[in-house]
Amino acid sequence: MGWFDRLKAGLAKTREALSRAVPWGGRPEEVLEELEMALLQADVGLEATEKILEEIRKSGKKDLKEAAKEAIALLLEPDERRAALRKLGFRPDARKRAVEPAGHVVMVVGVNGVGKTTTIAKLGQYYRNLGRSVLLCAADTFRAAGSDQLALWAERLGLPVIKGAEGADPAALAFDAAQARKARGIDLLFVDTAGRLHTKHNLMEELKKVKRAIAKAEEGEPKEVWLVLDAVTGQNGLEQAKKFHEAVGLTGVIVTKLDGTAKGGVLIPIVQTLQVPVKFIGVGEKPEDLQPFDALAYAEALLE
Ligand code: GDP
Repeated sequence: MGWFDRLKAGLAKTREALSRAVPWGGRPEEVLEELEMALLQADVGLEATEKILEEIRKSGKKDLKEAAKEAIALLLEPDERRAALRKLGFRPDARKRAVEPAGHVVMVVGVNGVGKTTTIAKLGQYYRNLGRSVLLCAADTFRAAGSDQLALWAERLGLPVIKGAEGADPAALAFDAAQARKARGIDLLFVDTAGRLHTKHNLMEELKKVKRAIAKAEEGEPKEVWLVLDAVTGQNGLEQAKKFHEAVGLTGVIVTKLDGTAKGGVLIPIVQTLQVPVKFIGVGEKPEDLQPFDALAYAEALLE
C-alpha cells in the first residue's frame, strides 16, 4: 500500500462521517449548511468551521468539494505558513515534503498513553531510513516501564539508546545524551520525557529542567520541542497542549491514533490555537503509519 492509500485508510472513519453527511451534488447553500454541521461533528470547532466556510464562499468555485479541500488545507497550517501554501497553488507535487528538524535535538513531550514512546521509535526509524544517524534517550525515568519500552523498541530497530535507572534525574540523563550525541557526531537525538499527571512532582518544571539541560550541552536551546497528542481525546487535549506550549515552547505537534476516531478535524483547532505546525500524524500502529504531515494530502484524504 502506498503512503496516500495508508493515509486514506487511517482517516476512513472521519471521511465516512463527512461524506455521509454532505450532499456534494446538492444546492450550494444546502451543501454548505450540511458541511458546517459535519465539520463541527468532526471536531473542527466553531471558529475554524466558520473560517472554512468563508474561504469556500470567497473562492467563488463551483466545485464545492475542491473549494472545501483547499480551504481545509489552508486552515491546517499556521498563519505564517498559509501564504506559502496559497502560493504553491495546491499542486500535487507540493505534497509529501520530508520533515527536516532544525538542529540536532528533538525533545518530545506529551502525557502518558498518547503514543509518545512508540512514536519516538518510529521517528528514529523514519530518519534512519532517510540516511541520518539517530540516538534515542529514555528520559522518562519516573516510569520504568516507559524507559524499558523505548529500549526494547530501540533494540528491535537496531537504534542506540541511552537510558537511566528508575528514578534517575531526567535532566542529567538528557544532558549526558546530548553530550554523547555531540561526541559521537550523531545527526539526531530524540529525547523521550515523562508524561505523568496528577503527582506531587511538577511535570512542567521537570520538562523545563530537561530543556535547560539540553541547552547547556548543546550550547543553545533545543530548536525542536514536539508535543504528541492523541486524536481520540479530541478538543479536550487542547487545554493540555496549551500548558505544554507555555512551559516549553512547542515547535511542532504530532497527532496519533487518527485511525481510531471520526474526529480527524481536530488538527485544525490544534494548529489554529497553538499556531504551531503539525509535523507527523499517526494513522495506525505500524511504523509506516507514522507519516510526515502534508496539509493538502490530509484535506484530500478527508474529502475524497
Ligand atoms: P506513551 O504512554 O505515550 O508512551 O504511549 P505508547 O507509545 O506506549 O503507546 C500507547 C499505545 O498507542 C500503543 O499500543 C501504541 O501502539 C498505540 N499507538 C500509537 N500511535 C498510534 C496510532 O497512530 N494509531 C493507533 N491505532 N495506535 C497507536
